[in-house]
Amino acid sequence: MTTRKVQGILRNGTVVDPVNGINRTADLVFDDGRIVERDPSESISATHDIDAAGLLVVPGIIDIHVHASPWLGGRHAHRMLASAGITTALEMAGPIDGMVDFAGKFGAGLNMACINYVRPGHTVRDTDPGEDELRDLLASSLDSGAIGLKLLGGHFPLTPDASAATIKVAAEAGAYVAFHAGTLESGSHIDGMLEACALAAGNPLHLPHINSYTRGQKRDAMAEGELALTTLLQHPNIWSESYLSPINATSAKCSNGAPESLTTRTWLEKGGYAPDEAGLETALRNGWAQLNLETDDAVVLATGDDAVAAWRAADTKLGVSFAVNPSEPRLRLATARDPDRGFVVDALATDGGGIPRNVIIDMGLSLVRLEAISIDDFVIKSSATPARILGLPDKGHLGAGADADITIIDFDRQRPVSSFVGGEPVLLDGKIVGKGTRLITTPRGRKVVSERGIEGPIVPLGTMLPKRRTATA
Ligand SMILES: [Zn+2]
Repeated sequence: MTTRKVQGILRNGTVVDPVNGINRTADLVFDDGRIVERDPSESISATHDIDAAGLLVVPGIIDIHVHASPWLGGRHAHRMLASAGITTALEMAGPIDGMVDFAGKFGAGLNMACINYVRPGHTVRDTDPGEDELRDLLASSLDSGAIGLKLLGGHFPLTPDASAATIKVAAEAGAYVAFHAGTLESGSHIDGMLEACALAAGNPLHLPHINSYTRGQKRDAMAEGELALTTLLQHPNIWSESYLSPINATSAKCSNGAPESLTTRTWLEKGGYAPDEAGLETALRNGWAQLNLETDDAVVLATGDDAVAAWRAADTKLGVSFAVNPSEPRLRLATARDPDRGFVVDALATDGGGIPRNVIIDMGLSLVRLEAISIDDFVIKSSATPARILGLPDKGHLGAGADADITIIDFDRQRPVSSFVGGEPVLLDGKIVGKGTRLITTPRGRKVVSERGIEGPIVPLGTMLPKRRTATA
């Protein structure tokens, strides 16, 4: 018998690949960055020869909502994602130049895409940019390596007209667009979500963190959850995700004696604190506000006097979290199904990265343990569907020819063990070994990423946020 030399073989793992109808013990072979076959007939020798007996072998986990920029997420985001078993992520704000800079300096071997924020005073002049200004911003964002735009309605809202125009301009170009709901007329809550769905006007849209619109701000939290689900079913053009962590994340940065973020001010008031700098300080001291504190290798949650001191030392320029996501709508949104659409909320994401809540595997597998979803469902929500949303047909499954992006999971511990991106190890036995970043760009971003040495998958304009296979009313 001949021995064939390849890049990798994962032996005796339970391969779960719902796209190809596989859920059984198998040997998985990859070479030159791609999946070759299962259960080879020849003897194999491999650079990465892994015993995966007793472990799950799934298509690389894709988190379509993370933060990994100098503005939000910070330098530890890539490593925090890698240690959470993520192989591909969408950075949900930018700014694109800073995100690309960090991807080059602090990469951990992941595929990363970025959408650039539409932010008054930063990337647009004011809160009511017109279509021409938005077209210019989209063009410069794509040329800088982003795949589209992000509306930050909950934090830095625009007028409804400008929000709608952003979605329209992105649709015309076939670019990606996501909208944290909220405009100058409606906040980051269920009413803002309904407004966002209307403003999309049938255009493709990623509506992030549905759970954050169901916190009971306008009516009962579960009633808000059901209304969110009904509304999504009426909008087949909208792709959505929700996250399972109890905490939100916003900015602790203050200017002129108050937090700059509307979200921060809102949750201070809900917790019974004044929506100003002094109120935030008291909330940090008492634990209602949890500082996102950077340590040597990760971001952790901190409260009390030490947190206040660290916040002051950073001139207030840090993130902060409040435990504001009630559990009932969180679970309902993550598991709700429709006979035609499948999962009503398409993907499981985290809004994590440098925000310490990268819990797709940990809390996602808790849903499997509860038998609220199956392990196949888990892979659909955390890899197969996200790959479709991003327009990446070679990811999200383990068929021959697919990218060798793989996550190996210890189901009993609900922890990732190892992972590979393009056949190269990112995580090995819980230790991060990946380096650099593969930036996912459109053809327009090619130049910038090759100059920076962070070339990754090219996603053609017009293939992201695709039309659903089944139309629902
Ligand atoms: Zn976010």
